[in-house]
Amino acid sequence: MTMSGNSQDPSVISGDSQASSVGSMICHMSGNRCAICLNLLPETGLQAAYLIDSASGGVWQLATAVRIGLLTADYQRSSTENAMAQCPTCHQAYFTPDLIALSPPLPVLNYILNYVNNAGANRRPLREVFSLLQQAKAGSIVPLPDPTPILPFLGLFTIVILKPEGLVRRCISTQHLPALSILQDNRFTLASDGTPPDGANVARIFDVLATAALDPVPDSQGMIPLSAEDPEFGQQRYWRLTLPPEAILAALIARIASGTFQGEEIGVAAQIYHTLSLEAVRRKQLGPAGGSGPGSGGGPGHGGGPGRGGGPGRGRGRGSGRGRRGIGGGGPSGGNSRPQKRNLRSTNCEPPRKKGRRVGEGGQGNKKGALRSGPLETVEYGLGDTR
Ligand SMILES: [Zn+2]
Repeated sequence: MTMSGNSQDPSVISGDSQASSVGSMICHMSGNRCAICLNLLPETGLQAAYLIDSASGGVWQLATAVRIGLLTADYQRSSTENAMAQCPTCHQAYFTPDLIALSPPLPVLNYILNYVNNAGANRRPLREVFSLLQQAKAGSIVPLPDPTPILPFLGLFTIVILKPEGLVRRCISTQHLPALSILQDNRFTLASDGTPPDGANVARIFDVLATAALDPVPDSQGMIPLSAEDPEFGQQRYWRLTLPPEAILAALIARIASGTFQGEEIGVAAQIYHTLSLEAVRRKQLGPAGGSGPGSGGGPGHGGGPGRGGGPGRGRGRGSGRGRRGIGGGGPSGGNSRPQKRNLRSTNCEPPRKKGRRVGEGGQGNKKGALRSGPLETVEYGLGDTR
């Protein structure tokens, strides 16, 4: 296992024992497969990809996440909780240069944004909210707005495009393209034959643990398009990962500090960050007693009731506008209406028990018309002190 975080962490490159053991562990956990493309590699060919950088840059990323209540200061950047196994192509070609990043799914982001804007004085830190959501998924009743519509999306993540200019005609090939899944009765199940890959509530779910558990793992060649020009780009893809969603959100926020980003997920993540960051600044200015009121700082839309309003599958923002219905107030309202979708879609949540269709048979892609970009100025403002 080669350890190379998103950078030059000396402890990693020199084969620090802790880092090596983390690398071996995540490698073992993933069955020596890349968590993104699911391809099988020799252990020596896999790399540890960290969410919050394990190198020095991660200090500031973590500080930002702590400031807005996403992570605690004792979050371990060199732990298995913060890392996944990736092949050199996924890691070095795409994730390390921040061409792409993982994001919680849009329905989850919209739920969080709505909570931030509407929870009032009793609002909990987001790290607690994510913890409660996990409990809700396990069947507990939790003191949060009804999370039922987003429960199928917990544990799933999308890939968002950070630098489209570097991704023209690029795609990641996989030998294990998942079959299609469909969201029905508030859970993902394998879709029936003939289901269009760009249909409503349809997704491919790349699940490295489920894939590794198959014996043998069926081959199904396919592609993960990374460029909006690809007609299959608009299909929904998810990755099922055992990583903390709050850390993935924190890592995404850290990476959208500069540059020109578009995409619904990025827009909503930026709004979450901006709102919480402004509050943190005000608290600091006012001292310990003041500034605790949530929702200040220009929250976008205060639409519907918390967590309600939208069927779960809607948050994905395809052409039909699913991304914006739903959890009120979540939709990014930025003025950029160019239809460039940024997240990849695809997936099925089940292990690929049957051969998956090639990504895109018959797919029209590009329906994700709704991509849009977050208020970058504000993000840059807010993150300015983290770099
Ligand atoms: Zn890979």
